[in-house]
Amino acid sequence: MSAKKNLVAATMLAGTVTALSFMSAGTAQAQGALVMYCGVQEEWCRAMTTAFERETGIKVSMTRKSAGEVYAQVKAEAANPRADIWWGGTGDPHMQAAEEGITDEYKSPKMGELQDWAVRQWEQSKGRTVGIYSGALGFGYNTELAQSNKIGEPKCWADLLKPELKDEVQVADPNSSGTAYTLLATIVQIMGEDKGFEYLKALHKNVNQYTKSGAAPAKAMALGETTAGIAFMHDIVTMVVDKAPVKVVAPCEGTGYEIGSMSIIKGAKNLDNAKKFYDWALTADAQKLGAEAKSYQVPSNKSTPVPPQAPKLADIKLINFDFAKYGSSAERKRLLSKWDNEVKNLP
Ligand code: PLP
Repeated sequence: MSAKKNLVAATMLAGTVTALSFMSAGTAQAQGALVMYCGVQEEWCRAMTTAFERETGIKVSMTRKSAGEVYAQVKAEAANPRADIWWGGTGDPHMQAAEEGITDEYKSPKMGELQDWAVRQWEQSKGRTVGIYSGALGFGYNTELAQSNKIGEPKCWADLLKPELKDEVQVADPNSSGTAYTLLATIVQIMGEDKGFEYLKALHKNVNQYTKSGAAPAKAMALGETTAGIAFMHDIVTMVVDKAPVKVVAPCEGTGYEIGSMSIIKGAKNLDNAKKFYDWALTADAQKLGAEAKSYQVPSNKSTPVPPQAPKLADIKLINFDFAKYGSSAERKRLLSKWDNEVKNLP
């Protein structure tokens, strides 16, 4: 089949899948269904879907999207919500949605089992989003390409500006990706806004592609498509576990981190099932599925074992990330539009 026909067939198929999931959402209440927007890696999203269906008999219609994309979709659908639960992805768009009132308050009976940082996220959002995992931002490099491109061993954010890395750094677009928005907010907090934007403009010269999803640069590094990539350290660890020639770096200047979050959509048609999922997703057993799906974040339930592969937060120079400020609607909109105007459109 030609590439064009392939595209047409794929588009028709996508239309059919959307129509089917729309029908199932419409008849959802009677059959016991749940519509979930999922913000982590596809493998973990699928593992959560299957396990919850098996445990409860509730049929889950799941769509995986990056953090900023889920936010945009939830906002666009606010008058007639299609989804019930938004599980995973960085906390900033969950916080923004909370402030804008498009997600709902809920206090789970499981709150007492959670780490303080997860509860703080819930308190700061006035009960509209809760922390489900945490992980630090960093970068990585393909050791074979680093050797052939003679870039040495990058250790600091500053090293990513070296001329030897021209067109050899990959990172996502912060409008779609929570990972890349975490980078934007991290650099501004470490360097101050003026110097931070100077840094991002200089970095732009070395960027070969702004991807849609935050984990794509980690995969591209593993495949030898880019020498360096900026991503959450746990996403790069997944590549190392799969034996890719990739090294993970915790930047010497310090780095930011995420509180991956979960929210119930305001006006959810399957509200009881959304609460069932919410309570279940906070249990130690459900959170163990992350490591099984090769996602190595730090889980928010105190009884979930921290995967041995997870980057040790205590060994990383973490900044005092201001989640309330950088998750606020005004600040997120302002920084993203400044990045679009001053960085993305540079030649
Ligand atoms: N993958 C994992 C394992 C994550 O923890 C996160 C953030 O929570 C993401 C991906 C973020 O995806 P994106 O940057 O595409 O929004």
